[in-house]
Amino acid sequence: MDKLTEIQVPDLLSFLSNNSPMLQLMIDTLPVPIFYKDVAGVYLGCNKAFEDFIKLTREQMIGRSVYELFDKELADVYQQADQALFDDPGIQVYEKQIRSTEGDELFVKFHKTSFLDSNNQVAGLIGVIFDITEQKRLEAVLTQQASVDDLTGLFNRREGLKRGEVMHKIASRGEGHLAVLMLDLDHFKQVNDKYGHLVGDRALAFVAKILTDKSRMSDVLIRYGGEEFMVIVSGNSENGAAALAEYYRASLANSSMLLDDGKPLRLTVSIGLSYFRHQSLAQLIHEADTALYEAKRRNRNTVCSF
Ligand code: GH3
Ligand code: MG
Ligand code: MG
Repeated sequence: MDKLTEIQVPDLLSFLSNNSPMLQLMIDTLPVPIFYKDVAGVYLGCNKAFEDFIKLTREQMIGRSVYELFDKELADVYQQADQALFDDPGIQVYEKQIRSTEGDELFVKFHKTSFLDSNNQVAGLIGVIFDITEQKRLEAVLTQQASVDDLTGLFNRREGLKRGEVMHKIASRGEGHLAVLMLDLDHFKQVNDKYGHLVGDRALAFVAKILTDKSRMSDVLIRYGGEEFMVIVSGNSENGAAALAEYYRASLANSSMLLDDGKPLRLTVSIGLSYFRHQSLAQLIHEADTALYEAKRRNRNTVCSF
């Protein structure tokens, strides 16, 4: 059992129930919501921050159980978590997504500690709530930034390969097909030279949009390098993957990006394809690269299979 659960002052339950002004002042000074309850889920007390958090006064709360204060669904959630702590006394920490009384989605982290009565029986718990909504939001932004290419919105190489490894593992277990398509824009240097780097950037975003529009949810689209893209496809037979590559090629060849002067800019892509036959992902990529090289050699705007 944890040290904290052994605290007896001499009987913490009666101490907490006896509304000590000094204790109240101390916990009211803390800006994080604090509450304490007995084993039946009846509130014994709380601080000012908790009153603000759940929009109830201490008077409304003390002596009432979670079932009297919240709807049954929410009360069940609280009571179940509390019961888990009482069954395994000590410290309990968990994160939870909740809806605030104003209806906002919040992420909170509960820190709860059980305490004993003078007979060494679990008598209740003290809980602290941290609002981690902003931290979660930032985490989501950073995760997104670390895995997605800014210009095109496609996965970056690191994230793409990570997902590719997962798909490769599944295919290696014999559960479905896998193919790697390596795409490289044709004569892209000329686009930059003729129209400038900004138009080149727009063209890359344009190509990515076409690939995205023509892909299925299960295709993993990656900006592999400067003007190189990789698509990892699962669930397609070898013929299906080749047809998909051809579809990407033709879709780009049949579209054009409008320049500022209203003139169309036509772009084409060469594609190398390799199909999973129990080689490693690195080998698959190498083979797709070799096939791409062959597509370039055959005058570009072409799909070649390894
Ligand atoms: P090929 O058909 O043989 O592929 O010819 P290419 O001109 O496309 O090939 P090369 O590798 O010689 O040139 C690729 C060009 O892509 C060079 C580089 O300036 C351009 N590029 C790479 N990344 C970016 C980018 O992020 N933005 C822009 N605007 N251009 C880029
Ligand atoms: Mg290139
Ligand atoms: Mg190129």
